[in-house]
Amino acid sequence: MREKLLRHIPSVDELLKAGPMKEAISGCGLQLATEAVREILCELRDGIVKGEINDVSTGAVTTKALSRLKEISSTGIVRVVNATGAVLHTNTGRAVLGQEAVKLICLAAESNINLEISLSDGERGERDSIVEGLIKRLAGASSACVVNNNAAAVLVALNTLAEGREVVISRGELVEIGGSFRLPDIIKKSGCVLREVGTTNRTHASDYASAINPNTALIFKAHTSNFRVVGFHKEVLLKELKPIAKKAEIPIVHDLGSGSLVDLRRYGLPYEPTVAESLVSGADIVTFSGDKLLGGPQAGIIAGNTGIIEGIRKNPLKRALRIDKLTIAGLEATLRLYLNKDALVRELPTLRFLTRPVSEIEDACVKASQMLKLALGEDFNIEITGGESVAGSGALPGAAIPTRLISISHRGKGPHEIFKMFLESRPSILGRISKDRFLLDMRTILDPAAVVPAKKVF
Ligand SMILES: *Cc1c(COP(=O)(O)O)cnc(C)c1O
Repeated sequence: MREKLLRHIPSVDELLKAGPMKEAISGCGLQLATEAVREILCELRDGIVKGEINDVSTGAVTTKALSRLKEISSTGIVRVVNATGAVLHTNTGRAVLGQEAVKLICLAAESNINLEISLSDGERGERDSIVEGLIKRLAGASSACVVNNNAAAVLVALNTLAEGREVVISRGELVEIGGSFRLPDIIKKSGCVLREVGTTNRTHASDYASAINPNTALIFKAHTSNFRVVGFHKEVLLKELKPIAKKAEIPIVHDLGSGSLVDLRRYGLPYEPTVAESLVSGADIVTFSGDKLLGGPQAGIIAGNTGIIEGIRKNPLKRALRIDKLTIAGLEATLRLYLNKDALVRELPTLRFLTRPVSEIEDACVKASQMLKLALGEDFNIEITGGESVAGSGALPGAAIPTRLISISHRGKGPHEIFKMFLESRPSILGRISKDRFLLDMRTILDPAAVVPAKKVF
């Protein structure tokens, strides 16, 4: 039986000549179609040998080849509607950029720009200089440079300042951020020796002071972004560390994680330390992310002491970790929004979402529910309920922001099935499951129609 099937497998030529395949070839080209057909034939032979396949008709095999071809030719990146309630959702790309950033990124994508050239004399310029001026102004820093992300910023700063030497850090700050960023690992990969002081919950100024020796290169302080310690806890503040570092003549490097450029309390949000405060309080260098609370593209910003920044610029690692022109464009436009702090909350999606009034979210829920009822039909039950959103990406740890949610249930299907159905729609709609309910958080959704799945999914 298997031999007979193997003998009757259609040939590549035969399959390429089949009617529907000819049409596909005119769209995607003969070479790709041939590749798809060969792949399918190969799998078919394996399947026959394993006894898993018993239909080798030209029709059946053509259908398989066509679906493979479709799989190869369709775009991998699709829009995902983030209805999770995490404003900065790492797995869907963190911050959604503002219109100005989108425009400048398009300009940089479709044309050449003054990336590393001075327009006054045509001489070679510095790629970071476009954003450096803005960062200096907004963070009160004397110098700044930019790399691929904050993990890279920490890596290059430590490698520049402390390769082969000791880095003192509190045990309470040896954090894991997620996505395999663990501070102890980054410190080791930077070529530095980790010198832990204190305990998980309490570290004292004297712990730092007594750890310092001639081989100590710097004191490292990390913002414990994604968790909050309550109870019997003591951390040593920058202003207490400053005299210790000064006496030992070593710098303080502060990994601020999210690193806000404005005091968020001004917009009614919880307190998050700003970059300027950190520098004023004693950090010589601050590192922070471009795509967390800042609301820009993925980038790592290093701000502070001019001599140290110059050293970082000369480090070959800086070259390896440099950011591309699209990122510089998106970052410049985003930073520019911070020049006007009153307009910021309207123009910067991250801040707009975080501060969106519950009444506006409720309106969006009402409109979306009506549309969902029509689209999904009688078997679904749709309700509006209360809940909480979060900033996400380790920003504003512990802060739960009241929101309104759409809860969707079904007579026969469980929440995981509904979750999957929304996910498979195009654009894909990403909700969340909580306490066995499928939920859509409308905080980050400006157009209510965006959470209504394409009909064919159901
Ligand atoms: C998020 C975070 C990082 C990593 O930043 P990326 O921009 O994601 O590389 C490092 N340190 C802290 C404290 C963080 O919160």
